[in-house]
Amino acid sequence: MRNCKNVGYYLIGKNSLNELKNLLDARRTNSKIVVFAIDHYFKGKDLEKKLFVDKNKDIVIYVDTTHEPKTEYIDGYVQLIKSKCKSKLPDAIVGVGGGSTLDSAKAISVMLTNPGKTENYQGWDLVKKPAIYKIGITTLSGTGSESSRTAVLTSKIKKLGINSDQSVFDQIILDPVFQDTVPKEQFIYSAMDCFVHNVESLSGTANDAFTIAYAEKSLELLREIFSGKMDYEKLMVASYYGGLAVANSNVGICHPLSYGLSLVLGYHHGIAISLTFNQLEEYYPLVKDFKKILKKYNVELPKGIMKDVSKEKIEAMIDATLLNEKPLSNAFGPDWRQKFTREKIRSLLLKM
Ligand code: ZN
Repeated sequence: MRNCKNVGYYLIGKNSLNELKNLLDARRTNSKIVVFAIDHYFKGKDLEKKLFVDKNKDIVIYVDTTHEPKTEYIDGYVQLIKSKCKSKLPDAIVGVGGGSTLDSAKAISVMLTNPGKTENYQGWDLVKKPAIYKIGITTLSGTGSESSRTAVLTSKIKKLGINSDQSVFDQIILDPVFQDTVPKEQFIYSAMDCFVHNVESLSGTANDAFTIAYAEKSLELLREIFSGKMDYEKLMVASYYGGLAVANSNVGICHPLSYGLSLVLGYHHGIAISLTFNQLEEYYPLVKDFKKILKKYNVELPKGIMKDVSKEKIEAMIDATLLNEKPLSNAFGPDWRQKFTREKIRSLLLKM
């Protein structure tokens, strides 16, 4: 049986970000250095000034989220931090951003104390040494990165998370102050990621009474959001619950398939998930609701995206999908290889 770990502490609500100073002051005990991993979108913006960065000591890394986080980026960040901290380690890591940035912060905290290359830790429970204390501040909700035990990264041939108890945030701050920074399409794609986490968790075999309760409540909150006005605080809770549901059960068919799109074609997670989920009605009846939501918000998914993609790239996407044994076994059972063949994956990809 798996012993499930959740986030240690959370702060939620307007102005909860103001508590960050006290949290960090309490941590500045050894090197007194804090590392901030901030989405590059916020560089020079007003919100950055609200993060209590000590300009004399702290290290700020702007996470370039143009592409999804790669293991080599993490190796680079870790090297940079180690060279700036000399022989010491930072007292805390603060991640500020959406899923890509939060996952980067999680991976940095793990890799500062564990030897070797980041790609060696992509998988399940491969992290042996305790990570650095870390705080996650979400600026875009939906991915569930704030509550999950995974830091999803791409390396040369795989998109796979560092799934470990050491990747879980010690503290999160959910302050709706960031909601105005999110464009509509990104809001929808990200909320759809949350929607899919719940659907995959509920329809798999790895769930339990806990994860079912989280996923059902998260879906209920999403339905309220999509039938009324956008409510960012509700979305933050839906995202958190969806992340918990999926972290303590597993994803299903959509995530593995979407990883091929991200790895080979460079699509960001939210849109890759939407493009993929759109084709999975035979497995997930709730795809109907998903299509209605896209229509309601006038979000048009790109069409014919595989038109000019080479056969080799399609095969590479199939390989990337098939690496995800645990999620696919969660979705189809132990004989998943017979049920989800290369041909089936190819036909789904070619419909996109
Ligand atoms: Zn996801």
